[in-house]
Amino acid sequence: MFQNYFTVFVLCWIAFAIITFISLFFIKQPYGRHSTSTFGKMIDNQLGWIIMELPSPIVFAYFFFTGTATLTSIHYLLFSLYMIHYINRSIIFPLRIRTKNKKMPLIIALSAIFFNLVNGFVNGYYLGNNAITKEPIIFIVFGFILFVIGFYINNKSDHILLHLRGKDETGYKIPKGFLFEKVTSPNYFGEILEWLGFCIMNIHIASISFLVWTLANLIPRARDHHQWYKDKFENYPTDRKRIFPYIY
Ligand code: NDP
Repeated sequence: MFQNYFTVFVLCWIAFAIITFISLFFIKQPYGRHSTSTFGKMIDNQLGWIIMELPSPIVFAYFFFTGTATLTSIHYLLFSLYMIHYINRSIIFPLRIRTKNKKMPLIIALSAIFFNLVNGFVNGYYLGNNAITKEPIIFIVFGFILFVIGFYINNKSDHILLHLRGKDETGYKIPKGFLFEKVTSPNYFGEILEWLGFCIMNIHIASISFLVWTLANLIPRARDHHQWYKDKFENYPTDRKRIFPYIY
């Protein structure tokens, strides 16, 4: 019975992602270069990243381990991938960012906490209470390779961005090298590959919802970044796409 409610809940969650996707083509997510105080109270940017991302691995792990499924090595593999990504995103990444004195609206942190609580619950609960979908092993292998490639692209691109600034610098420069020669936001492209791979490893409504949310958040933001670079830098390379090499 609860599984039926769960399925309806996740379908609504996916519908909400699609509405968010459409809205984000009209409203810029106000953090980073698009940060603005018109969204009310502001908090420290670095602290914001930690508090908004940390709920995800905690809630995911709680529901994963309190579920009733017989956990297999594939369950543990998926668990590990999720945790590696989120330990990096909630602790290592915020400690590396160079956003001296930068603020983000509290409302952004709160909405990200909400997203991470629900997403952690949906994916942890599903995985902890269900057998792995009987995909042919090739799906597991292919999905895993895609996740690893995505993780590498995401982290290498973030690394390049984070090193564009000197210790006390706050401005922006044109990123060069690696996949930046092809797209404006390879870090987002890598993140999408990660969750696409995670979804292919075990295709179900929860992993699909995470992929849909990632696309909904990152495609409009990549579009905004691309336009921002073009407006700010006259010499911004014209052959770069926004997020998907050669496509968009
Ligand atoms: P951005 O690309 O906007 O920024 C990443 C970091 O690099 C920030 O610290 C930013 O500083 C700095 N930076 C970016 N461009 C430049 C530049 N041209 N010159 C100097 N410094 C620069 O990424 P986000 O902050 O939006 O996201 C960070 C990570 O979180 C990414 O890996 C992304 O994939 C992930 N993420 C995932 C989401 C999901 O739904 N799964 C949603 C959102 C993010 P500043 O903050 O000052 O702009």
